[in-house]
Amino acid sequence: MSLNDLAIDVPRAAIRAAAGELRTALGARVLFPGDAGFDAARTPWNVAVAQHPFAVALPESADDVVDVVRAATLSGLRVAPQSTGHAAGALADTDLSHTVLVSLKGVRGVAIDPEARTARVLGGSLWNDVLEAAAPHELTALHGSAGDVSVVGYMLSGGLSFYARAHGLAVNAVRAIEVVTADGTLVRANEDEHPDLFWALRGGSGSFGVVVAIEIDLLPVADVFAGMLLWDAARAAEVSHTWAQWTRSAPETATTALRIMNFPPLPQLPPFLSGRSVVVIDGAIDETDAAASALLAPLRALRPEIDTFARIPAPALVGVHMDPPEPTPSLTWHAILDSFPAEAVDAFVGAGGTPGIFVQEMRHLGGAVNRRPAGGGAIASLDGHYLVHSIAMVPEPDAGPAATAAVRAGVAALAPWHADALALTFIDAPGADRALAFGPAWARLRQLKLAYDPANLFAAARPI
Ligand SMILES: Cc1cc2nc3c(=O)[nH]c(=O)nc-3n(C[C@H](O)[C@H](O)[C@H](O)COP(=O)(O)OP(=O)(O)OC[C@H]3O[C@@H](n4cnc5c(N)ncnc54)[C@H](O)[C@@H]3O)c2cc1C
Repeated sequence: MSLNDLAIDVPRAAIRAAAGELRTALGARVLFPGDAGFDAARTPWNVAVAQHPFAVALPESADDVVDVVRAATLSGLRVAPQSTGHAAGALADTDLSHTVLVSLKGVRGVAIDPEARTARVLGGSLWNDVLEAAAPHELTALHGSAGDVSVVGYMLSGGLSFYARAHGLAVNAVRAIEVVTADGTLVRANEDEHPDLFWALRGGSGSFGVVVAIEIDLLPVADVFAGMLLWDAARAAEVSHTWAQWTRSAPETATTALRIMNFPPLPQLPPFLSGRSVVVIDGAIDETDAAASALLAPLRALRPEIDTFARIPAPALVGVHMDPPEPTPSLTWHAILDSFPAEAVDAFVGAGGTPGIFVQEMRHLGGAVNRRPAGGGAIASLDGHYLVHSIAMVPEPDAGPAATAAVRAGVAALAPWHADALALTFIDAPGADRALAFGPAWARLRQLKLAYDPANLFAAARPI
């Protein structure tokens, strides 16, 4: 049982008082069940998850966040920071009936310092916000595959980008964090100020407070060689074996993924994908066009049906993985692998055809992802060389158990190669052993949670 599972006993009169406190503090920027807009405000990006909080706060500033945290504390309520709800699946087993869901959707904005190559990003900002602001300065960031994931939610849980094998986990690019802590104060944490909190937030994320702004390093990259290769799934074994072999000698400048994707017949899909299974390799290669093309030659020799690899503007990298552009009901499971030998490739391909699997993915780790930089936080690197990730759709609640069984089977198929590690950003369902994502940092992190949030005010998707 996690701390998040502990029931909180709040008497009825106190609940009425709590609602009053929140109304006084936030006025129309707090919604209760029955209020117009409440249902939309409580609905996360992962629409398979039904969230039933005590209230939804919609702060527009750091001061609003301070007011929410103070009012919740006075009222004996908990606080769950959420920016988009991409990780709502991981919060699904937390009882939110005495919790204020703090939706950071109204706290967005980015300021770029082109000289320092840094960005100050407000707490609810999305990667697309940063990429758009950074591009005119020929800068980019260590974003993930989807542009509508939040910067804070991704970075403070590690963050695996298509630049990862060269530059490491995104969390190591965090320079400072402005956070409202459990005592209702706004604190700036960095290497010199509140260093323990700075260490804990870089992995501990929303378990330690509501982040209202974050300062991050940017990369001096205006464009990147990136794209995808696509074949019919009949070629899955051949393509997967070739990719696995290719990754064994690929330089750290190449970060790629292999996927078997089973598309349902849907009119909104392009005809070449609707009702079809395909195998896809995608990613980025930080080399000259000539060097990147030479590197891709063994994969291109398999004559893909579609080949989009080319030099593209850096912000376009979020389009390469073809993540769903709209809120999506999904369920996922993952594991990290020490290696991906031929037997494992066969198991991966077999699992890609499991009924119920929408996407069976293998991301290539290694390189800088494995290296812990000096001064890193609670999460600064990942052990292991590959990450297997199974995704199922949950079009209606009844489909949940079958989807869970499918994704667990997709990952279990690779069990002989599982490492004792997990990637926190890929924990997206209850039941994962979160300690595996932290390794030796777990014990210190739990101590710091008790020190900074002794009443367990904050409910996070991946609780400490
Ligand atoms: C389509 C898709 C693509 C993805 N691609 C990648 C990828 O390429 N690489 C990768 O590493 N991950 C990827 N992820 C996983 C994603 O990075 C994590 O689920 C991430 O935690 C989502 O952050 P969010 O804020 O958008 O989601 P939310 O569900 O809003 O937040 C998740 C948790 O982060 C914390 N949090 C968020 N905002 C704040 C805040 N302002 N203050 C305090 N705590 C906060 C909270 O604890 C919250 O419970 C992907 C997920 C999806 C669904």
